[in-house]
Order: sequence, then C-alpha cells, then structure tokens
Amino acid sequence: GDTVLEAVGLTKHFPVRGGLLRARRHLHAVDDVNVVLRRGHVTAMVGESGSGKSTVARLLAQLHPRTSGEIRLHGEPVSVRSGRSFRAYCRRVQMVFQDPFASLNPVHTIRYHLTRALRIHGRMGKDDTALEELLARVQLSPASRYLDKFPHELSGGQRQRVAIARALAADPEALLADEPVSMLDVSIRLGVLNLLRDLKDRLDLAILYITHDIASARYFADEVLVMYAGQVVEGGDSETVTQNAAHPYTRLLIASAPDPDRIAGKAAREEEVKGEPPSLIDPPPGCRFHPRCPLAMPRCRTQAPPRLPVGDQDGHWAACWLYAAEGAG
Ligand code: ATP
Ligand code: SF4
Ligand code: MG
Repeated sequence: GDTVLEAVGLTKHFPVRGGLLRARRHLHAVDDVNVVLRRGHVTAMVGESGSGKSTVARLLAQLHPRTSGEIRLHGEPVSVRSGRSFRAYCRRVQMVFQDPFASLNPVHTIRYHLTRALRIHGRMGKDDTALEELLARVQLSPASRYLDKFPHELSGGQRQRVAIARALAADPEALLADEPVSMLDVSIRLGVLNLLRDLKDRLDLAILYITHDIASARYFADEVLVMYAGQVVEGGDSETVTQNAAHPYTRLLIASAPDPDRIAGKAAREEEVKGEPPSLIDPPPGCRFHPRCPLAMPRCRTQAPPRLPVGDQDGHWAACWLYAAEGAG
C-alpha cells in the first residue's frame, strides 16, 4: 500500500551519568532504525524489554526530540516540533498506550474524554451523534451504556476500546499501538486485536503494533521488524520472518516463546535466549548480539553487520554476517 509514515535512520541517545567520576555518557536507546507504515497495513515491532520499542513509538509520535534521523509524512520531512504542521502531524499520527487505566483520567467520564478529543479536532457536533459513532466503531454499543461511566466502571478491554476511540476522534491516518493488549486478560486480547484489524481495513489505517509476543505479530501483522538492543536486526513479511527466521536472535526469540503451538519451531521451549542484553551505554563495536550468539564469528566482535538480503523472499533481510556473500570480507 501507500506509505503514510516513514522513518529513516531514526536514532535516540539519552544523556546519562555513570561510571567513574559520573562522566556524561550516552544510552543508545534507538540506533539507525528504519520503519515504514503503509495504508491498510500492520507493521509489528517485536523485541524483549529494553530493546527500544517504546522509544521508537515515542519518536514517531514526536513525544521525544530525536538525536538524528528523518521522519516523513507522505514523503514530506517533519522537522519542527511546534507550529501548524506539527499540530497537523499530531492529528494524523495517534498513539494507543499499553495501560488504558493510566491514559484515561479517573475523575472524568467516557463522555468527557471523547467530547474533549472530538472538540480538539473540531469534530464534535451539537448532539451525541459523533460520540455514538465513535463508540460504535470500537464495538461499544449502545453508547448510552458507556458514555456516562467512569473508567473504573469498565473492564480492561472496554477501557482499551475507549482509548482507541479517543485516538480515532482525531481521524488519524496512522496508529502507534504500544503493547495495546499486553495488560489485558489473555482471554480478551484477541478481541481487541481483531478490532484493530477491522479498523485498519475499514479506515485504511497504517498501524505500528509493538509487542513482546512474536506469535501475536504473526497473527496480526503484515510485516515484522525484530528489535535487539536499540536496532532492527531482521525485517520482512510476517509469515517469512516467523516461519523462516534468519537472524540468530529471532530464532531464539521464537524458540523461547511461551506458546510453541502457535509458532513454528521444533526446538520450542528447549532453548532460551541466554544471557543479558548488552549495556546500551556507549555500546561496543561489532554485532550487539555477539555475546549471546551461538554462531558468533571473530568479525562479529569488531564489525557491525550491515542489513543483508536473505533467501529469495523479497524484502527479507537480516543484520547478520551469516548472510554475507561467501568470501566477502
Ligand atoms: P519494554 O518492552 O520493557 O517496554 P522497550 O523495548 O519499550 O521495553 P524502551 O522503553 O524504548 O524499551 O527503552 C529502551 C532503552 O532506553 C532502555 O534501556 C531504557 O532504560 C532507556 N530509556 C527509555 N527512556 C529513557 C529516558 N527518558 N531516559 C533515559 N533512558 C531511557
Ligand atoms: Fe551472531 Fe555474528 Fe550474526 Fe551477530 S553477526 S547475529 S554475532 S552470527
Ligand atoms: Mg515499551
């Protein structure tokens, strides 16, 4: 589909103090990440805790200034974090957070939250029609049952639906969903993912779906990006990445996933990703996965692997020396 939002070389280094003499150093939370969000298309970003997924979402939502890299909306670079084009950007790119409780104000009703969002975007009419439409979109109907309730009077799934409705009040083109179901009861996760999929199809939304759970990425996403220690280490269409994982980290991630029946991989549960992710403070050169990689070679310790094409699937790549052409280097 058409590209809505694109980030190239997205990088975020947080200044931190540490070590001897509490010297000023940099935590490389996100390093040289490329992401493309397309109309009617879900891009999943998968990786363990601390790999930089939320930072990518926050950079795309312009909640953090970036250290370097470019963000483009419909091909136009987005630079300044203020002014009219910034406000237009914020309308078109909406975020859905992990914890719907934290993102809804407990002292206000659902009506208040949604009315406010509609007003900000100039979409609130004289009666409740727009509110009813929004709630119907997220399958909360009749609206009268929900509008005058407070967040704590709803279930977790209903609250997340309200948070999604609030994002939709802006009539966005892209949704950045940061672990939108991970705080919800396992039994209702699928319902919320199916709702997002339905909205994507009906509203032609571009969705970034952030998750720890590679099985849900396979189910829900068209494309999967695997994050490790602030970098994307593998990318491709979701079927290929989950069925024919190329990067040693992706393979271990799949093998250690909690529900082996939902994912391929005979070695499921027999292996886990051993060791700790590297420190992101002034990380060493080379492949960031090399201390944990069962296939590490000498060059992996000193040279960072480039993104290399894998197999014959268009667009499948891995940042791993295993895929360098024979004899090169
Ligand atoms: P999780 O799965 O636990 O949500 P994540 O993949 O979303 O993890 P991030 O929250 O993006 O990871 O964090 C990436 C790294 O950046 C972590 O080492 C984190 O401690 C660091 N980090 C995030 N925000 C800040 C900040 N404001 N200042 C300093 N370091 C930060
Ligand atoms: Fe392992 Fe080397 Fe590939 Fe890194 S580049 S994942 S260390 S084989
Ligand atoms: Mg996160």
